[in-house]
Amino acid sequence: MLILPEALIAGLVTPEDAFSAVEATFAAMARGEAANFPVVREALGEGRQYGFKSGFDRAGATLGVKSGGYFPGNAEKGLTNHQSVVLLFDPDTGRPTAMVGGNLLTALRTAAAAAISVDQLARRDARVLGIVGAGHQAQFQLRAVAKVRRFEKVLAWNRHPEKLPKLAAVAAEIGLPFEAVTLDRLGAESDVIVTITSSPKASLLDRHIRAGTHLACMGTDTKGKQEVEPALLARARLFTDEVAQSVTIGEAQHAVAEGIIKPEGITPIGAVIAGLAAGRQSDDEVTLFDGTGIGLQDLAVADVAVRRAIGRGAGETVGV
Ligand code: NAD
Repeated sequence: MLILPEALIAGLVTPEDAFSAVEATFAAMARGEAANFPVVREALGEGRQYGFKSGFDRAGATLGVKSGGYFPGNAEKGLTNHQSVVLLFDPDTGRPTAMVGGNLLTALRTAAAAAISVDQLARRDARVLGIVGAGHQAQFQLRAVAKVRRFEKVLAWNRHPEKLPKLAAVAAEIGLPFEAVTLDRLGAESDVIVTITSSPKASLLDRHIRAGTHLACMGTDTKGKQEVEPALLARARLFTDEVAQSVTIGEAQHAVAEGIIKPEGITPIGAVIAGLAAGRQSDDEVTLFDGTGIGLQDLAVADVAVRRAIGRGAGETVGV
């Protein structure tokens, strides 16, 4: 079994690798070649969450599980709040083939999903990027999404404004003007909005969002989290990574529970990528991608890391 510790991942997988691997995975799901297994996610108390996301991609020959969780007190200990590891198995024999640090991979594959949704669904002339959230993931989101349209500025809002300067520094690094604004301004001026918070209650309301906006709602990955008002989901054309997750642990859970949207109204983004479903149909419609984070995304990027490492002789092989 190949061991790839967290410290090696940055040298093995680029954001571009994550984009291609996740895009191929979404399309494979839509073609029925890959499936996620049901998610296990449990509360440990004091805001801690732990769980398992797993799946099997027949086309990519990846079988495995990401085991990990969210530990809100970690930042004060100098650790990232998400801690995870990906285990890969040989699909023919079930033998473990690799154990791969999952923290950076999680950020890369999550940012890739948002960027893929923007690439597929945002208006071609999108120029203003709005970001709601300024935690660990927000920086990766900004870097990835900024690559898929010719953005001219970034507007940001966060419930805890003291976190915004870190996001501003990333914008400066990639050459985009940055402004901290109210939610009213963010909604009125943004063409694309990424939400990436751990909020339990909607911050963005339906009235904030103008026609033609694309939203990538990435923060809600557990029962009880919520970033946008359900009325906005009722107005938007809805897309997701996986419908089963969207309606149970994703942003759509609330609108479904209120009975104002139906699961059948949500299109898997893979179907758009694979040419099996339509994406944006007019410049006026609001499109919303509910990015819940699926096990197959984790397996896809871990597989890239393993292939690169084998090619370069990186990592450590141990017998099991
Ligand atoms: P983080 O702890 O670094 O940042 C949390 C962010 O949420 C900060 O901007 C913080 O100010 C904000 N926030 C905290 N409490 C809030 C509240 N009550 N109301 C509004 N905002 C609040 O976390 P992170 O690593 O940046 O992750 C952000 C979210 O994204 C989490 O919910 C995490 O579980 C989720 N996530 C989703 C995926 C996916 O695939 N969809 C992947 C990774 C993380």
